[in-house]
Amino acid sequence: MSQKTSFTLTQADIPSAWYNLNADFPEPLPPPLHPGTKEPMPPDALEAIFPRNLIEQEISAERWIEVPKPVREIYALWRPTPLLRAVRLERALQTPAHIYYKYEGASPAGSHKVNTSVPQVFFNKEAGTKRLATETGAGQWGSSLALACSFFGLECNVYMVKVSHDTKPYRRLLMQTWGATVHPSPSNQTHYGRKLLAEDPHCPGSLGIAISEAIEDTVKHPHTKYSLGSVLNHVCLHQSVIGQESIRQMEMAGEEPDVIFGCCGGGSNFAGLVFPFLHRKIKEGKKYRVVGVEPEACPTLTKGELRYDFGDTAETTPLLKMYTLGHQFMPPPIHAGGLRYHGMSPMVSHALKLGLIEAEAYPQTQAFEAAVAFARHEGIVPAPESSHAIAAVIKEAERCRETGQKQVLLFNLSGHGLLDLTAYESYFAGKLQNV
Ligand SMILES: *Cc1c(COP(=O)(O)O)cnc(C)c1O
Repeated sequence: MSQKTSFTLTQADIPSAWYNLNADFPEPLPPPLHPGTKEPMPPDALEAIFPRNLIEQEISAERWIEVPKPVREIYALWRPTPLLRAVRLERALQTPAHIYYKYEGASPAGSHKVNTSVPQVFFNKEAGTKRLATETGAGQWGSSLALACSFFGLECNVYMVKVSHDTKPYRRLLMQTWGATVHPSPSNQTHYGRKLLAEDPHCPGSLGIAISEAIEDTVKHPHTKYSLGSVLNHVCLHQSVIGQESIRQMEMAGEEPDVIFGCCGGGSNFAGLVFPFLHRKIKEGKKYRVVGVEPEACPTLTKGELRYDFGDTAETTPLLKMYTLGHQFMPPPIHAGGLRYHGMSPMVSHALKLGLIEAEAYPQTQAFEAAVAFARHEGIVPAPESSHAIAAVIKEAERCRETGQKQVLLFNLSGHGLLDLTAYESYFAGKLQNV
């Protein structure tokens, strides 16, 4: 073989600490506010829904936080994940750019989300939690939490957005396989769900509604805590294994990325890849361009407003300072379910405000066009979410073709699309619409 295209680490290279960008922001991150008093949320107030050990991570400004041994042992089932160079795609695009991708679809649940579900369940178990409640859209987060709960023996209750529950059976069945109980949301399990069903028995649900139901379930059941798969600081923290491994793998490849891309829903896979690179950008003066990519139908970073907003529809969460489209925003039903959220991680939002990153938005048809090109040249069928990052990478590679620039591009392939093939079917049938 003339050219090395795959850069593989060993189990010993699984990071032993998570990286926390909060230690390095040139300006501190604005704190969450209590929705009643509008004063900074006292950490104890969060204990109704989160265990103390995770709250400590949420508010921590320590740069490195140790990964406990039992978590590293489970990470070793699929980590370190591969980093590959997409030479066939480069050739097809006739671009002088080099395209690298980190493949998080290699996990048992098929995405990066297990990087945080495993430590979240571990720390809950340490704190005495017996039961977790959460929400899920298309099921990526619910299935990741179900898997982690089955590893540690906790009960898992998932509120799944009703349209997805009824039309996307595969991840619901994955959740059941891993032992979780799945409720279509709005459900009759909660006061809020019953109220919405009384108003409209056919309410299709939304992520904001499902979050409200999961939080109500949490506060009404003993030994129960709530778990969130994106947005929060401790989630971005856990995902930092992605970027730390990528830095080592790019060194193996003998290259430094010029531009780094990730798709942005709540911001966690993007944060996971790019925050360790931002550490170097801030501390070592590296000149990386870092691009968050979102759908045009839910343009939080490119069209949202930076302000305090609720994370859910029923206004039960603390107020978070973030780019937001408003907590009543109902995203159109695009196929990248994981990108349909009105808000954005406060840390990712802060990084954008400080000019450490930039953002672009693409229509879903362009994302699928990019996904199909990627699958035909590289083999892996990307998740519709990840395909947004690929659309941005292809655009940049084409720009390099025009200008002759030899840029090194790196993106996060956050998950595979093998459980999303009906979305591909709609695309092939010409049924996808841009909003
Ligand atoms: C959930 C999901 C996303 C979006 O969530 P982030 O927190 O923004 O990463 C992206 N890609 C895949 C494959 C997902 O499952």
